[in-house]
Amino acid sequence: MTIFNEQHAMFRQAVRSFVEKEVAPHIEEWEEAGQIPKSLWPRMGQLGFLGVEYDETYGGGGADFLTTVVLNEELARSRCASLAMAVGVHTDMASPHLYWAGSEALKEKYLPAICRGEALSAIAVTEAGGGSDVAAIKTRAVADGDHYVINGSKMFITNGVLADLYFVAARLGPGAQGRRHQGISMFLVERSTPGFSVSRKLDKMGNRASDTAELAFQDMRVPGENLLGQEGKGFYEVMRVFQRERLVAGIQTVAGCERALEDTIAYVQQRQAFGEPLSRKQVVRHKIADMATLLEAARRLTYAACLKFQSREDAVKEISMVKLFCGDIAQKIAYDCVQLHGGYGYMREYPVERFFRDVRLLTIGGGTSEIMKEIIAKQMAL
Ligand SMILES: Cc1cc2nc3c(=O)[nH]c(=O)nc-3n(C[C@H](O)[C@H](O)[C@H](O)COP(=O)(O)OP(=O)(O)OC[C@H]3O[C@@H](n4cnc5c(N)ncnc54)[C@H](O)[C@@H]3O)c2cc1C
Repeated sequence: MTIFNEQHAMFRQAVRSFVEKEVAPHIEEWEEAGQIPKSLWPRMGQLGFLGVEYDETYGGGGADFLTTVVLNEELARSRCASLAMAVGVHTDMASPHLYWAGSEALKEKYLPAICRGEALSAIAVTEAGGGSDVAAIKTRAVADGDHYVINGSKMFITNGVLADLYFVAARLGPGAQGRRHQGISMFLVERSTPGFSVSRKLDKMGNRASDTAELAFQDMRVPGENLLGQEGKGFYEVMRVFQRERLVAGIQTVAGCERALEDTIAYVQQRQAFGEPLSRKQVVRHKIADMATLLEAARRLTYAACLKFQSREDAVKEISMVKLFCGDIAQKIAYDCVQLHGGYGYMREYPVERFFRDVRLLTIGGGTSEIMKEIIAKQMAL
């Protein structure tokens, strides 16, 4: 099944070449350092990878959503899930808040730097008290003259340590009875804003080269014009951008699993046991066949949702299914890929070991599997 044209194929080649030359040789080093060098961002900007869909007037590529699909597939195939996640957050989860809801003046001011990779962005919604219940956020914004004063904190923020721009969800009011979500607004916050601080860099199981932070805001004065969209409409913006985020997560999951399966097939074809390659054993062949079948199903579900999303139809149910299904099958695929590598699968020198740790995030980040099931059931009017 293919949904791509010749232009997409050319773009894929450009991303693949970048990954082979400028990513693959450095993955271990970045994982060890716990971050991706900041210098990689202007390089990706130069290559036109950051803001592929944004209008050319802001320095974007003016391309379609399928170009974003290609970018995310190739980054996820790199065996560096950390990079795929960091880029996905910058281009598909954080900066869309500016592109979709920001004023013209804000877009002119910040989007070119975002596309050039000179301003790295992060999305700050989750708080220590709970991430699934977005409407429960406690970070507070109070209007004060031509500024908002924000107090509170955020947890698990990807790119949080290194970012220059933060898209922050804060509560402006309580919201009407039973409508807590109506009190939430989105703000664009520059890192240099007095009162902003990175309280700590978090130590994670996987995706170790992607930096994750806890943030603190203490009497942080944000200019009034940095409100994104209308006061009290932030929750809807978060939910809107979540659709893109979850679809991109599914795309990355399928591509990352495909790469791990390819690595595993290569391994069982050369590994000898009982006088023949492992790939000759029926149980091994069946495991591979099961994984390939799950992946084919995941790819078709994901591409169908991509086409619906690209044509701007309501795809909430399909995207939630993509996130749920891909996240779940990735756990099974990671388990079996490690199993087929035997002892080597447990060793750091084999990429499948990192893959196993990285995929654990996929049923948690960007909305858990349980929350996806809640959304699907709601969409089914249950
Ligand atoms: C590595 C990493 C990167 C992240 N990056 C970002 C980021 O850049 N920006 C950002 O804002 N957030 C980010 N997050 C946060 C992420 O989106 C949340 O962790 C996620 O939404 C879950 O929230 P929580 O961790 O508070 O879990 P909780 O909401 O406390 O949930 C705990 C458990 O309870 C279950 N649960 C909760 N409610 C229900 C329910 N109604 N029914 C059934 N089960 C339920 C959940 O499914 C989960 O299993 C990141 C998280 C991680 C781990």
